[in-house]
Amino acid sequence: MKSAVKYKVPQSEPFVGKEELHNLKKVIKNKWLTEGPFSLEFLEIVKKFTGAKYAVLANNGTLALFLGMLSFGIKEGDEVIVPDFTFCASASSIAFTGAKPVFVDIDGGNLNIDVKKIEKTITKKTKAIMPVHIYGQSADMDPIVKLAKKYHLRIIEDAAESYGVFYKGKHTGTIGDIGVISFFADKSVTSGEGAVILTNDSLLHDKLKYLRNQGRLQSGNFIHPYLGMNFRMTDLQCAVGVAQLKKFEKIKKSRLNIYKTYRSFLKNAPGLSFMEESHYSNFIPFRVVIRVKNLDKLIHHLEDNGIQTRGVFYPLHQQPCFSYLGYHAGDFPVTNKVRSEGLCLPVFPSLAKSQIEYLCEKIIEHTKKIN
Ligand SMILES: *Cc1c(COP(=O)(O)O)cnc(C)c1O
Repeated sequence: MKSAVKYKVPQSEPFVGKEELHNLKKVIKNKWLTEGPFSLEFLEIVKKFTGAKYAVLANNGTLALFLGMLSFGIKEGDEVIVPDFTFCASASSIAFTGAKPVFVDIDGGNLNIDVKKIEKTITKKTKAIMPVHIYGQSADMDPIVKLAKKYHLRIIEDAAESYGVFYKGKHTGTIGDIGVISFFADKSVTSGEGAVILTNDSLLHDKLKYLRNQGRLQSGNFIHPYLGMNFRMTDLQCAVGVAQLKKFEKIKKSRLNIYKTYRSFLKNAPGLSFMEESHYSNFIPFRVVIRVKNLDKLIHHLEDNGIQTRGVFYPLHQQPCFSYLGYHAGDFPVTNKVRSEGLCLPVFPSLAKSQIEYLCEKIIEHTKKIN
């Protein structure tokens, strides 16, 4: 395998520098490494920006989703609905409670859960729906909220990739009962590892606070009213996170500019299409997803030319780890098609225009040859 540094165009690179370093030095000087002043500031900024009433930290998006499941009381025998097209963690957070993840096909345009296909998967065992705001665009939440009301279901939004993404004016992750934003190294804003769980429900907030901190509210107190675990972050991570959140407008602008450049350079590439934009959501590209014919050949062509490639998500129903669920490929025509045609293009802020130009030139060479 080629190492990322050797690529002329890598897939992702965090946008970190002197602001992050400055904050990190402060933490070292303070000698307070666990959750502290930066953790509080990090949460405050996220709360203010998203409009969520309550927010708690978690050590990463995967465990934050799992924590959300625990706060709902999801357990063996329950079912939770999730799109078939997402990062594996969305579904593994369900499976780890003992509950069964139930997959739903997606919309071929915006690649989010196909809301028309949700209702027929609801059974007596269904306890929650987990929409995922994929690649930086919101799922269509109104129909999901309606279904949740009708069948008394919880909603946990996987907003791991959608910091700064709003659905009809509401920040993703604040529409359902709980929302999870990830700050992993390749997300739009990062703390290395880390996550925030949003909720407007004070009871859920209380549960989350106990569950994440060993079943008590205050560290240093050895009386534990409930059973809990350690889902905490560190002030080192939050110091990086605070610096990132403060330059979010810059990050957003840069990602959108790169996206615009791709659209203009690839506008006439034969047989190539982009992930569609939805009218009810803004779009902050987590990746730019294109669809092409003969994807395997394109991947070889790009890798041979020093460009690091990344396919789109692998449908959950085909994941070896979920083979026990017994799904068939024919049940999910859209995710299978998207997987066979979809490619992620990099959109990190330090990507140079010359790199984008070079990448687009190589893509056009391919599309001209096969069309
Ligand atoms: C990144 C991601 C996660 C997991 O977040 P981590 O912080 O990496 O654990 C979950 N769901 C989606 C859709 C993601 O992109």
